[in-house]
Formats: sequence, structure tokens, C-alpha cells
Amino acid sequence: MATEQMTARINAWDVAQEQFDLAAERLNLSPGLRKILREPRRTLIVKFPVKMDDGSVQVYTGYRVQHNLSRGPAKGGIRYHQDVSLDEVKALAMWMTWKCAVVGIPYGGGKGGVVVDPKKLSLREVEGLTRRFATEISIIIGPERDIPAPDVNTNAQTMAWIMDTYSMHVGYTVPGVVTGKPIPLGGSEGRNEATARGAVYTIVEAAKHLGMDLPSCRVAVQGFGNAGSIAAQLMAEEGSKIVAVSDSTGGILDPNGLDPNRVIAWKKEHGTVQGYPGAKDCGQAEVLEADCDILIPAALENQITAQNAGRIKARLIAEAANGPTTPEADEILHRAGKFLIPDILCNAGGVTVSYFEWVQDLNRDFWNEATVNAKLKEIMVKAFNATLEMSLKEQVHMRMAAYMLAVQRVADATSVRGLYP
Ligand code: NAD
Repeated sequence: MATEQMTARINAWDVAQEQFDLAAERLNLSPGLRKILREPRRTLIVKFPVKMDDGSVQVYTGYRVQHNLSRGPAKGGIRYHQDVSLDEVKALAMWMTWKCAVVGIPYGGGKGGVVVDPKKLSLREVEGLTRRFATEISIIIGPERDIPAPDVNTNAQTMAWIMDTYSMHVGYTVPGVVTGKPIPLGGSEGRNEATARGAVYTIVEAAKHLGMDLPSCRVAVQGFGNAGSIAAQLMAEEGSKIVAVSDSTGGILDPNGLDPNRVIAWKKEHGTVQGYPGAKDCGQAEVLEADCDILIPAALENQITAQNAGRIKARLIAEAANGPTTPEADEILHRAGKFLIPDILCNAGGVTVSYFEWVQDLNRDFWNEATVNAKLKEIMVKAFNATLEMSLKEQVHMRMAAYMLAVQRVADATSVRGLYP
């Protein structure tokens, strides 16, 4: 079955709330806290016009959701995709709250999205859309309030436009309003690679725990964008063999190992990984179910479901993507003895280096890449080991352990602040 079809059937917000309910139950959270943490604090829906190149006007729908602000300002990416919905953005915002808590950085969770396929727009149209969307959400974003970052189909250029638009409105330059910016605008060294690098730090720790030798491991990567393609490069640097990768157009397989740098160059030139010389073209499902030791989902939500979880061959699953696995699939994988590094831990490297970028912006400071990577490694390794310890102590799978840590931290912050008024 095509993965895109499965995505459409499962509601990410239902999944996010179910994951929270399971953790809240296990933690015996009070009914009041459950009610507070189960819903987003603020939800902004905007409909905004954009002038297209042919002179016509299109009206787009966008969202910015702030799930919880108890531990600090909201933090989370902005996604451009034709399937963006309010429920998806709510789920992604809630996951950001738990993610920031797992790695212990002082943020709450937020997320944004626009319902658009940016590949169908010209660069000028994407800029117009971005600047108008930034204007619409400027009533709730800001360096002390809510700090967006890149996500699916947005990048450093998108962040530069948002930063410029916000700065034009307030009348002075505000680098700290977004992270994931280009380096000359106050972006951080290491931010572009941070999500993948953080994921690989957790994979290295998991491999130690499982006694897996990375140079003899075969890796499959679903999604070949920022998170997926750089994760493939970094796993190859660890000595692992990349045997399968996919993107939104399909997949490729090569049991002898793909060179990620060459596949990146091929995709840049041809717009797809398919047709890569020497590899076999395949469907997206074949990449998820490929014969491999490590699977890195790095595309969209709801890719590993009750339907296909039983066919996953990898022993270690590292969720670079947000929400790739449904709760039913979690149980199937757990019973099958798979070790899963959950999204809120695995891909937290992105928001962690975003936090470093924001700290540098606020202090007008610059750190070199070695400093950024060393600080990132320290945080990721600590968070992984805290989660593993919780998992072993409470005899729960890694997702439940990460949720128990995160939800408890947010619940504690919410309780100690008290209920205003
Ligand atoms: P991106 O736009 O750079 O890449 C997404 C990739 O997924 C593209 O290669 C696209 O072709 C592919 N894709 C889309 N649908 C697919 C499908 N059905 N099967 C296979 N491939 C498919 O986005 P990204 O920033 O790399 O984000 C990917 C995932 O990582 C998302 O879940 C995102 O929320 C998560 N994430 C990203 C960051 C970050 O810093 N960029 C941080 C944390 C989490």
C-alpha cells in the first residue's frame, strides 16, 4: 500500500493524544493536569492572499499552534505541504513540548504550517507566501514568545524571509525570532546538520547498548531531505552501508551500498532518487521493509502502522521524522524485540541546536562548529541514557520512557507555576 494513502487515513492528533494518555496513565497524573496538557494553549488559523506570477490571487490557509508554554517560549518548525491540517500541526506542536522537555531545553512546544505544495510555485511566489504568512502570525511569534524554525519543505532561505519580514514590522533587526537561519544572518554553525547529527549520536548509543557493530550494519532511510540525506551521510561516515533510500517519488535499493553524496547530487540534478545508476528502483514500502539492521524514517507521520509493522526487518529503528509510528505499531515492534529510538528523543538535535542559535543571537555571540557539536553530543547522549535508564527501571519501551520523563517535567513546571488567577 502506498505510504501516502496510509498517512491520509490516520489522524496525527489522535495519535499524539493517545501517546500522551498512555504516559499520563502510567505516571498517574492528576485529572486537572491531564486536561491542561491534552490540549494546545493557543491555535491561530489564518487565511491569507498571495499574488501569483500570472497576476491572479490565491488564498492560502496557514496555522500556528502553541501547545504548552510552562517551560519557556514556544518552539517549533513551519511546514509547507499540501496535506497540512490543523490536527497535524496540533500534533506536531504537542510533540515539540515533549521533545524540548526530554532534552531539557527551556522551551514549550509550537508548530506552524501552510497548506501548499511549494514545488508548484515559483521562488517569488514562495517568498510572497512566506512574507504574508509571517505577517499573519507575527501577532503571536517573537524571540520571547514563539520562535519558528525549518521543517518539511522550508529551509534557511524561508527563515531569512520570516526574520526580515518580522524585523521590518518592528523597525529593527531581530535575529532571535527564528532559528535555522543562514549563517550571515545569525544562523548557527552546525544547525543544518543538527537533526541528523543528533539522531546519529543516539544511534551510536543504542548500538553500544544492543552490541551492534555499526561498520557491519546495513541502513535504510525513508525520506531524503534535510534529516534523511544527512543522516545517510553520517551513517556512512560511521562505516555503515546505506542499502535503501526513498523520497516522495519512490525508492532505490542497492545491497552493495549506496554512496549518499552521489545520491544527493543525483537527486539535486534529477529531482528524485529514482533512476540512480547501479541501484534498483522500488516503491516506498520496499524501503521501509528493506532487509537491513537500522531503519531511519525521515519523511512524514504514520508510516509504520499496524499494517506494515510486522514486516519491518530492522532491529533498530531511529525516528528522525516526527510521528512516523502509530501506537499500535509501537506495540507490534516492541513485541517483536525491536529497539526504537522515539522521535521526541531521536530528532531533538534540531531543536537543541536551534536553542544554541537563539542563545547566540540573544547574546550577539558566535560559537564554532566543534563547540556546537560537542554541546549537542553531551545533551543527546545524556537524554538517551536517561531514557534508557527509565525504560529499564520501569520495564517500558523507549517511547513510553521518553514520554514519562518529558510529561513529568512539563507537569511539574505547570504545577509549580500554579493555576492563574
Ligand atoms: P525535507 O522537506 O527536507 O525532506 C522531506 C523528505 O521526505 C523529502 O525527501 C521528501 O521527498 C520525502 N518524502 C515525502 N513523502 C515521502 C514518502 N511518502 N515516502 C518517502 N519519502 C517521502 O524535510 P525534513 O526537514 O528533512 O523533515 C523530515 C522529517 O524530519 C519530518 O518529520 C520533520 O518534522 C522531521 N524533523 C525535521 C527537523 C529539521 O530540523 N529539519 C527537525 C526535527 C524533525
